[in-house]
Amino acid sequence: MSERYDVIIIGAGFAGLTAARELRRRGASVLILEARDRIGGRTWTTERLGRGLDLGGTWVHWAQPHVWSEITRYGLEISQTPTAEHAYWYSRGRVHQGSPDELFGLFDPGMKRSVADTREWFDQPYAPLLRDDLDELDKKSINDRIDELDLPPEEDELVRAMWSLNFNAPAETGGLTQALRWCSAASGDWQLLFEACATYKIKHGTKALARAIAEDGNAEIQLGTVVTTVKHGSDGARVRTASEQEFLADEVVVTLPLNVLSTIDFQPGLSATKQAAAEEGQASQGMKVWIRVRGEHDPFLMFGPSEQPLTFSQVEYTVDGDTLLVAFGPQASRLRPDDKDGIAEALHLWRPDLDIVDVAGHDWVADPYSGETWPMLRPGQLTRYMRDLQRPDGRVHLAGSDYGTGWAGFIDGAIESGLHVARRLTTAH
Ligand SMILES: Cc1cc2nc3c(=O)[nH]c(=O)nc-3n(C[C@H](O)[C@H](O)[C@H](O)COP(=O)(O)OP(=O)(O)OC[C@H]3O[C@@H](n4cnc5c(N)ncnc54)[C@H](O)[C@@H]3O)c2cc1C
Repeated sequence: MSERYDVIIIGAGFAGLTAARELRRRGASVLILEARDRIGGRTWTTERLGRGLDLGGTWVHWAQPHVWSEITRYGLEISQTPTAEHAYWYSRGRVHQGSPDELFGLFDPGMKRSVADTREWFDQPYAPLLRDDLDELDKKSINDRIDELDLPPEEDELVRAMWSLNFNAPAETGGLTQALRWCSAASGDWQLLFEACATYKIKHGTKALARAIAEDGNAEIQLGTVVTTVKHGSDGARVRTASEQEFLADEVVVTLPLNVLSTIDFQPGLSATKQAAAEEGQASQGMKVWIRVRGEHDPFLMFGPSEQPLTFSQVEYTVDGDTLLVAFGPQASRLRPDDKDGIAEALHLWRPDLDIVDVAGHDWVADPYSGETWPMLRPGQLTRYMRDLQRPDGRVHLAGSDYGTGWAGFIDGAIESGLHVARRLTTAH
């Protein structure tokens, strides 16, 4: 039995680290318990394929207010994904080649129509439940919306591909309201949204930001510690770990992704609504992979339909005369990020000339501490679950990008959520 902390935080991802820093600044004693042997959670900068790579969350943007203010605060440098000079897209059964402008010209009418009513429903991205008549809209998937548009076949295929990429899942599993909320955070502009998702990176990796926040917060962090049970009541909370350690605290912040939230035994249990949300899980189920291809190639990008195992790729770096691509697929169960042959086959659909040297990635969906990639709500989940997920149950407070409000799903949403929960706790203390 150790000392009693004001707050125990479960998870050292961006939500946990941010909450810890804020609580420490206000004088609280804080212990972070982290299952993995590193901080960062679903962001992970590590040496692979000849350089530091982010296997999880990567891109940031000045349109994302919380992460950008952290970048400013710690004086971090930004690097830019090379601007593509060529585009390849697979539609109507064959590969097309053209300029990125031509491809984005094909996307534009359908993408604009798919989110034309964004500001009508979500005028303020940080108040997504402002309107009380969202129920019918929330039942729809982004695929239902695309069906309604009756787009010409090539545009239809491309728009589905773009949304499948955004959801990191087949488009039928993604909630329309989630798509509109993302777009609302990007002021209704789908191209800005795309830029925010895939253009600007923290030069020395997300690790640089996670470290800066952790060092600034100076909270005690115990790595390699899997929390199994949280008992809480009028006298405080007891947190037990898989190695049978027990810690006491006044309050507990839980930052587990929704898809693994039920791996902790809460006593008393979380609200029925939270349990239902955790049981359903959110939509993302895809994969991200880094691919080293032989030789230097002009920057290019590729798009394909969600039926393909890889639906997007773009050039990111050159290393010792080779080129590093990043790619995404909508279903990790179909193509694992370490399946070099499968990845080569998928990539060769667009560019049979590419010689794959090696691949690197992490299967976040199979990982027991994430169970998902970036969180994306399914149809119906916004109106059924969001309010309750953001509400504490006794001494248990959820924080994380799964429970964020604005850029939920992003690093930004994790930071935002960490700030909210820390403020709630410090006003309560
Ligand atoms: C492949 C991929 C690509 C992405 N791309 C981007 C991007 O380009 N830009 C962007 O902004 N976002 C991106 N994201 C999303 C972003 O990385 C996440 O939304 C964000 O990092 C989540 O932070 P979090 O603190 O909410 O959760 P997490 O980072 O998941 O933190 C939760 C922590 O809890 C720990 N934990 C879990 N179970 C236990 C337990 N029982 N006991 C103790 N600890 C436990 C986990 O190990 C983890 O460290 C991406 C994510 C993935 C996976």
